Amino acid sequence: MLSLSAFILSLLLVTTGVYAGNRAWEPPIHYAKAAIAARDLSGVNNIYFNGTNVSSDYHAHQKRFFGISSPATTGSYPHLWPSGNIDACFEDRTHQHDGATKHTRDILYDNLITARQLWRQNGLDDGDGHFRFNILPEDDAGCERSQRSTHLLIMYAGENVRKMSTSVGVDQPRGSPENNGPDSDLGPTMILTDILDIGMGNVVANYAHEMGHAWGLHHEHQNPKWWSETVTGVERAKFFFDETNFICENLADFDAQMVPYANEPDYVRRGHRNEICRDRDKASRSKFAGGFNYIPIDDAGMIDDGQSEPDWLSIMLYPSNAGGKTVGGVKQNVITKLNGDLIGPVSKPSKRDVQGLKKMYGVKTSFFGKILGDKSNPLKNIFDKIRKKDPDSGCSS
Ligand SMILES: [Zn+2]
Repeated sequence: MLSLSAFILSLLLVTTGVYAGNRAWEPPIHYAKAAIAARDLSGVNNIYFNGTNVSSDYHAHQKRFFGISSPATTGSYPHLWPSGNIDACFEDRTHQHDGATKHTRDILYDNLITARQLWRQNGLDDGDGHFRFNILPEDDAGCERSQRSTHLLIMYAGENVRKMSTSVGVDQPRGSPENNGPDSDLGPTMILTDILDIGMGNVVANYAHEMGHAWGLHHEHQNPKWWSETVTGVERAKFFFDETNFICENLADFDAQMVPYANEPDYVRRGHRNEICRDRDKASRSKFAGGFNYIPIDDAGMIDDGQSEPDWLSIMLYPSNAGGKTVGGVKQNVITKLNGDLIGPVSKPSKRDVQGLKKMYGVKTSFFGKILGDKSNPLKNIFDKIRKKDPDSGCSS
């Protein structure tokens, strides 16, 4: 799930070690403000950030889905991939893996291809020239350092390293190829682990989640319209997440955040807690990765699909215990439904995940999705009733 996006969390993980036990799902953010937050998180200087933001006027005319909306042609960051086609290159290096020395490609390729297949099986076809995930040979000219801003660099986190992080869409380079900075500063990056006890608890599903970020999707649970006024400051008649069912204290890295405040009065501790558990920018500045990946994103520059309820089956939605601390051998739940029901891990992209990406990229959906899903259509009520009977539907709860 940052403007450098995502990669920033990885820097954080590398540089602090505090998060070693944390689920480190990426911190993707995609717009300018988030970009700033991401830089704060990593401590990286903002020198390459030019303050470009995405016009809200522009977005007002877009169809809605929770992801980035800036087309590849606008020049502003972050933006979508051209027609959703991603050129990807494996980092050209070796790692220790299962007792052998292996190239990045040899560790990640099969599961990544399977993850792309998973999207295809669930409706994200690439037959019409969209949504291609092209993995180039390491010696391809497109994989050269000078081309970093136009390809996705896929890195292995390292054996037993709990780290997963992907740029959301194409983010702004934080450096120039002529300088000595790391390749990961120069363009979109995807860092993958094959540790099982992370995210969905399924390597292929986790890679499919990361692919969703790469194409421009945010976490479903970070859409501010699902959250109460307590967290967003925006009054809502109906909400799905609040501090009654988002238990910030259960995040694996929460306790470490409070250590410096151990001897402060209660009200000071409470104040700090509320800042890092409600304000994503403050969580970022405090390097509180858990909060950063849960707290709703400011929706400026965001689009979503105009639905009235979260997609509980989205592959971009965290299961209840993602990022939770382990107590007595049990990973604690961080988020549940408002009634206390658990959010389970999913193993595939949902219909709304696929439809959302198609909308973001302007790809026509099927007759059904296009016509019957349209709010203005009188058949919609009937359609919704049918959908509710479909256990595969994201609207079942
Ligand atoms: Zn994520």
